[in-house]
Amino acid sequence: MSVKNGAPYDEGNIFARILRGEIPARPVYEDEHAFAFHDINPQAPHHVLVIPKGPYVSMADFTANAPDALVVGFWRAVGKVARELGLEEDGYRILANAGTNAHQEVPHLHVHIFAGRPLGPMLMQG
Ligand code: 5GP
Repeated sequence: MSVKNGAPYDEGNIFARILRGEIPARPVYEDEHAFAFHDINPQAPHHVLVIPKGPYVSMADFTANAPDALVVGFWRAVGKVARELGLEEDGYRILANAGTNAHQEVPHLHVHIFAGRPLGPMLMQG
């Protein structure tokens, strides 16, 4: 089910639970601002999720309400993950779903990083 537009942050969401260590994830990178881990249902040879360490549902929520240091630290972490996975040479796609039309499933902001094969057109046609 998609995240309802404008929904408040749910402390019980699956990524909040991963951040609290209540359920496992396969880590890729971690620092004080961000945690990156492998998607449980990968859509490409590399499919990594990067999440900020804070209670934000969407990009709009995050950029409006997170402290500057967290916004900067999060985006630096996204770039660092791409670099450290060696994705710069062949290329990669960064994607963040928000709300119903984008089919966001988990109500904690996350950036997908896809790579490892030609990724096709940016959006499903039709
Ligand atoms: P969304 O549609 O919200 O942008 O993407 C949610 C992503 O989270 C999906 O790609 C899904 O496979 C992934 N996901 C959902 N639950 C878990 C989980 O428990 N662990 C991990 N590692 N990924 C998950």
